[in-house]
Amino acid sequence: MKKRFYGMIITALCITLALVCQAMRVKAQETSGEEGLENLQIMTRSSTIVINDPEDLLRMAEAPGDVYDLACDIDMAGIEWKPFAFHGVLNGRGHSILNLTISQTGDAVRETYDGNMKVYDTYFAGMFDEMSGTICKISDLNLVNLRIDVETDQPCFIGSFAGYMEDAKIENCSVQGILQLRAHDRMFGVGGMIGYGCGEIKDCTADVTLTCIDTDASTKDEQFMGGVCAAGYPDLHHNTVAIRGFDSDHGYVHDGGLIGMYMFYPKGKSYRGSITDNYASGKITFYEDNKNRRAYCNGFIGEIMNWDFENGRNKNDFVRDEVYTYDVDLMPHSCDNPVMKEEVVPPGCEFGYTKYVCETCGYEETDHYTLREHNYEWVTEKEATETDWGRKRGVCKDCGAETSELIPKIIPEPTPEPEEQTAETLTETDADDASKEQSSEVLQEKESLNQRIGENKGWILLISICITGIAAVIVWILWKRSNEEEA
Ligand SMILES: [Zn+2]
Ligand SMILES: [Zn+2]
Repeated sequence: MKKRFYGMIITALCITLALVCQAMRVKAQETSGEEGLENLQIMTRSSTIVINDPEDLLRMAEAPGDVYDLACDIDMAGIEWKPFAFHGVLNGRGHSILNLTISQTGDAVRETYDGNMKVYDTYFAGMFDEMSGTICKISDLNLVNLRIDVETDQPCFIGSFAGYMEDAKIENCSVQGILQLRAHDRMFGVGGMIGYGCGEIKDCTADVTLTCIDTDASTKDEQFMGGVCAAGYPDLHHNTVAIRGFDSDHGYVHDGGLIGMYMFYPKGKSYRGSITDNYASGKITFYEDNKNRRAYCNGFIGEIMNWDFENGRNKNDFVRDEVYTYDVDLMPHSCDNPVMKEEVVPPGCEFGYTKYVCETCGYEETDHYTLREHNYEWVTEKEATETDWGRKRGVCKDCGAETSELIPKIIPEPTPEPEEQTAETLTETDADDASKEQSSEVLQEKESLNQRIGENKGWILLISICITGIAAVIVWILWKRSNEEEA
């Protein structure tokens, strides 16, 4: 009899377990589909740090090995950026960083090699002074109106994304900027995407004005300039470069539409490189003040030291512009009587900026970019309550760009005040507080995810209680019966 009783108990427990499983499966199905996928993505991306403003961007220096996502365009105007070594992943998600301004090298010191394999301890500047490691990557990021202006007594390379790159990747990025280096210690150069190094750069565009000035005529230096990279052996695929280069050199020039000098290093390094489907256009104006002249300057690569690379479908429309007066530094704007006229172009569906035109020579430059101001029409998707944030979606009436924002929780009226307060009638302070709390889309996603998880927890608890109750009744009936039978 006892055996039968235990059998019954086990059967009852199995039924209970099956019921619980089924209930949970039904609930899971309800939240599956797109929503489930979204949850999964958020969960797998939970270690990603979201960048919403300049402070977040500056904070990357504290954890340079982490994974970062840009949630919006960011204006860095008026903020001095100190380059640091980056080893992580930065996904721009198609957003732009405006007006990033750099006037100093970072702390990283790396060995660089000239064409004779002489080694130099070298400093670097760029958004990062160094990008290194096979997992290190920047993708889908635009640098708009990048300004780098460095003067140094050290060997030095500057590049938009990184002064030095080792085994890292830059993919589907763009830069539009003005880079200038003034140096005189033996080895230095300027690159449109990176200064010196190796790794992979693909599907990128660079629209850059590069200036490299040797400030000491008494020593012969090795000087480098490239639309993508000043010197090294990066693999380049499907990049488009527009370069305006100005290289004043009392030594040896290595200038190229794509790469200034292509070489493998350190000594004895063998490598099968790859440079395919790139396009370089523009002009490099340079002088080489040196009796033993070489004056390497070409639309593809200035000087090629290693020929072991795949080379296909690269094109250029390039002007090699050599000048023979060595006493005046070559600069983008060099007229005798500059008269600058400025015109402010306000932001709309595109960034705003100020355009400067020299009335004497026609030189043009843009600066001071401002964030887009779309003409949004807002639709409330979810009303805010006292306990939950609401959400509204905006669609630009002019270009169709979409965005969404949280609507702050409704703040309950203070007891003595009779006036009712809703989301629409928030006071300025409330709106201020709300906008501080409100951050990115991901924050919104996370909030609603937490909410959904909370809802699910409630459901599961309720179902579990019901089923446990039923199970208890079944067990009680079976126990009673088996007692009767024993009797
Ligand atoms: Zn728009
Ligand atoms: Zn002018």
